Amino acid sequence: MSRDRVDLVGLLLPEVETLMGELGQPRYRGRQLFHWVHACRALDMNQMTDLSKTFRVILKDHISISRPEITQVQRSSDGTRKFLLRLSDGEDIESVLIPDDGRLTACISTQVGCPLACRFCLTGLMGLRRNLVAGEIVGQVLALQDRLEQGEWISNIVLMGMGEPLLNFPQVDRALRILCDERGANFSPRRITLSTAGHVVGIRKLAASDLGVNLAVSLTATTDAVRDQIMPINRRWPIAELIKACRAYPLPNRRRLTFEYVMLDGVNDSRQDAKRLVGLLHGIRCKINLIPFNTTPDLPDRASPRERVEAFQRILHDAGLTATIRESRGWDISAACGMLRAEKA
Ligand code: SAH
Repeated sequence: MSRDRVDLVGLLLPEVETLMGELGQPRYRGRQLFHWVHACRALDMNQMTDLSKTFRVILKDHISISRPEITQVQRSSDGTRKFLLRLSDGEDIESVLIPDDGRLTACISTQVGCPLACRFCLTGLMGLRRNLVAGEIVGQVLALQDRLEQGEWISNIVLMGMGEPLLNFPQVDRALRILCDERGANFSPRRITLSTAGHVVGIRKLAASDLGVNLAVSLTATTDAVRDQIMPINRRWPIAELIKACRAYPLPNRRRLTFEYVMLDGVNDSRQDAKRLVGLLHGIRCKINLIPFNTTPDLPDRASPRERVEAFQRILHDAGLTATIRESRGWDISAACGMLRAEKA
């Protein structure tokens, strides 16, 4: 074992096939391995009984199958589970499992920390420590699935954990391709949602790609003056540019964009805001997700009172828009939106 071993979890199927070629094996071995890793979630080469013993010994010298290590699990009274995961270099990230209406959604991270410093998000207080590699993004899904009980399986994936996915586009793109490959985990892109704080160049890249995942945009303000204050990324790509990129986003039939809107008391929750929002989104096939602000002592804002959230929602409804209020999940274990900062409880 003189050389570094390649982590199979982060490789696309054609790369695994090429690797097999380099080891003097037929390409179909690549498919077998890919299937073992992503469909069977094998951790150990000894399980791969359709490969000869001698080949398995050779493989062990060249490849590894890794997972982030789960170091803590917390369970909320509402059934949400939060996982603290340790990466191979000792950094920590968090992932969350959210059961809901027969679905089980995995909320996974794309960066250790986040550089965007949105005023209402705890992850922003960490700053960016580093990007995750594809194997660490896919590895979160595998590690969570490993922990499930019989008969439970992850049905949906949201890239809404720590980090800004579009600031790590190459690795996110790779991870999504691996997860959606039908010869592996076979996730449908329609069951995956990528959420961005409004990285316009990234939105254009996603629009030009054939990934086919759902896009959610965290808008959270209707004027540049306010958005500049609460989401510094707005100084780079103001609202008009962001909305323009959203309008240009090619949506398949019957699919819609999602706009997330965190409701902050006295900041972005007025009737005028609701009306401006209607104007901004005019003609875009979309739904709006109003998110009650999850407060913590480390963040300056307060949550909008429930009546105001509902009044805001009514204005959107009356204008013919679909708007839902996201029920906060996992607040008691700091697993809710904007509360992930990878701290041991
Ligand atoms: N960086 C991406 C994905 C991570 S945040 C993005 O910004 O979209 C996932 C969602 O949680 C975003 O819509 C964000 O606006 C929201 N959020 C962040 N902090 C929150 C908080 N304290 N309370 C409620 N929602 C929050």
